Amino acid sequence: MIRKIVIAKHHGFCMGVKRAIKIAEETARDRDGQVTILNEIVHNEAVVENFNRQGVGQVSSVDDVKQGTLIISAHGVAPDIIEAAQSKGLEVIDATCPLVSRIYYIIQRVVKNGYHVIHYGDPNHDETAGIVGYAPEHITVAASREELLDLPDWPEKKLGLTVQTTAHMEEFAEIEELALNKWPHIQVFNTICDATTQRQSAIVELAPQVDMILVVGSQTSANSKRLVGISEALCGWSELIGSAADIRAEWFEDDPPIERIGISAGASTPDFLVEEAIAKLVELSGGTAEVIRPEKKSRRRRASDDAWANF
Ligand code: SF4
Repeated sequence: MIRKIVIAKHHGFCMGVKRAIKIAEETARDRDGQVTILNEIVHNEAVVENFNRQGVGQVSSVDDVKQGTLIISAHGVAPDIIEAAQSKGLEVIDATCPLVSRIYYIIQRVVKNGYHVIHYGDPNHDETAGIVGYAPEHITVAASREELLDLPDWPEKKLGLTVQTTAHMEEFAEIEELALNKWPHIQVFNTICDATTQRQSAIVELAPQVDMILVVGSQTSANSKRLVGISEALCGWSELIGSAADIRAEWFEDDPPIERIGISAGASTPDFLVEEAIAKLVELSGGTAEVIRPEKKSRRRRASDDAWANF
């Protein structure tokens, strides 16, 4: 019987996702003609479907857009793709997260100074493709510790190390140590974003209080899957659910029973999906479960908030 539902201190939409959705909504409202998003605006089906309903299309290649406005998703794209879109006469609106753009900046700067960059990330992720596109001749992607260790010794090369914004913090700490052992001269840029750090740390805080953790997020969301991995390691059991419909009553009928459920959500998961999951758990408890939410800290709006919004 479910007795307690504890919500992670940090979960759900991050700054970059909120910003990308706002840009896409404003563009769809203000532009005449067809508005199309290149790749998923954020990795969540509910958000993508919502834009589809508003008549905003989605494509995976610039070749599929003939006219109108093209929005670049929060994960960014390579510069040659933006150039290809502009040369077709498309208006390009860039909703790339500023923390992804920060990696572009780092890469361009160090490559200009003669460095070769090792980027630790998933080679099949949109974000990685965009990053590599900024200096294809000067970046090597490593997706695992084995791939990193297989790279040449490069004693003469100036080297930099960057990392996917949504990487596992502890995994990257290990990668950093391995890289420094192999190439003591390597410059490390920890480009994991704050939202990722906060959401992963919140799981570490949540795990001792609960018997299992449900992460609300999409199968295509790298950061949601990472939260499941961390939850599983700490808690023993975690499930990734796309929505409340994926929650199965038999999960809570185990012996010994699962009584305390933790809830988290990836950075691209809208709040309503989290609330629906909580409501389903309360319903399964016969309406008796206590829901413990993180304290909301109110803070004064800072000038830097606007700076981020207009970055
Ligand atoms: S997860 Fe981080 S890098 Fe990705 S959109 Fe959110 S804030 Fe930006």
